[in-house]
Amino acid sequence: MSDKDTLAVRLREHGISRRGFMKFCAATASMMALPASMIPRIAAALESAKRPSVIWLSFQECTGCTESLTRSHTPTIEGLIFDHISLDYHHTLQAAAGDAAEQAREAAMHENQGKYLLVVDGSIPIRDNGIYSTIAGMTNLDMLKEVAKGAAAIVSVGTCAAYGGLPKADPNPTGAVAVSEIITDKPIVNVPGCPPIPTVITGVLAHYLAFGRLPELDELNRPKVFFGQTIHDRCYRRPFYERGQFAETFDDEGARKGWCLFKLGCKGPITYNACATAKWNEGTSFPIEAGHGCIGCSEPAFWDKGGFYEALSKGTHGSAEGIAMAAGIGAAVGVAAALGSRSRQAQADRKEEV
Ligand code: SF4
Ligand code: SF4
Repeated sequence: MSDKDTLAVRLREHGISRRGFMKFCAATASMMALPASMIPRIAAALESAKRPSVIWLSFQECTGCTESLTRSHTPTIEGLIFDHISLDYHHTLQAAAGDAAEQAREAAMHENQGKYLLVVDGSIPIRDNGIYSTIAGMTNLDMLKEVAKGAAAIVSVGTCAAYGGLPKADPNPTGAVAVSEIITDKPIVNVPGCPPIPTVITGVLAHYLAFGRLPELDELNRPKVFFGQTIHDRCYRRPFYERGQFAETFDDEGARKGWCLFKLGCKGPITYNACATAKWNEGTSFPIEAGHGCIGCSEPAFWDKGGFYEALSKGTHGSAEGIAMAAGIGAAVGVAAALGSRSRQAQADRKEEV
């Protein structure tokens, strides 16, 4: 690998100044909750980072995850980080088709055995031997197993790959499952979201480039730095929640004044993601800022957890009185709902296994 293949050279070629690069490293360190003393280390590691081979497999998905990533942030440094990886196989982005595409995948696997990163978006159908989704005559199930064998690590991008997502929603006609339900002997990082936040995907890639390993994960294999807190924890509407000031409809006075969207079904209290801080469209906004409650798209089984416009307290308390109670008890509901979410998920998983 020559010096020409390092990220430093690539950044210089694209006219990124040293100052701009250091700003990016500082933002990356802060996003990853690392101390300022780590900034020079991140800079040095990123500058000399070589091009890792990446094989990206898209299974039962809508291409939303790829759209999310590719439509954002170019030509910023985040975009260049994505460009810096050697994307050796990706249905949507590759020029090759048919046999040539499959040969490229096989060549990348062969040449980078044990070293390449496998990125997956979409769930894997396993009912009826996986016949519901095939690529080049091979079922998603077989392709995942084949490519995972030689991968150094796997990044499950999007809620479908991380938890099964929409294809797994009841009644799950294709028997969709998450990557981690099939591959159990490789390090897997889940980057859920429907779609996931582009800066979170590039943040995971930047961490891998800088440190040669995946970031620290939580019990659902999500990077703690991005998924360590709920939307509710960091929501700018939180003071209204604490004061019991809730919008009752999407066009009432409360909505116009920016009050809390809890009664309109916001799932922020039980959703772990970075939307409230990283935001979308280059930090422009996120759903709650646009006046719509969080739908909890980065949590397991979010499609099956009740209506998007149903207040969480309905599930917890089972009646409209519950909503009133939630309005009265403020923050306590968030904590209870967050705790309840985990146990409800565990129950749902157990139910599915039966
Ligand atoms: S997680 Fe959402 S955006 Fe990504 S593939 Fe699934 S449905 Fe599409
Ligand atoms: S319930 Fe939703 S809108 Fe209200 S503070 Fe929490 S995250 Fe924000």
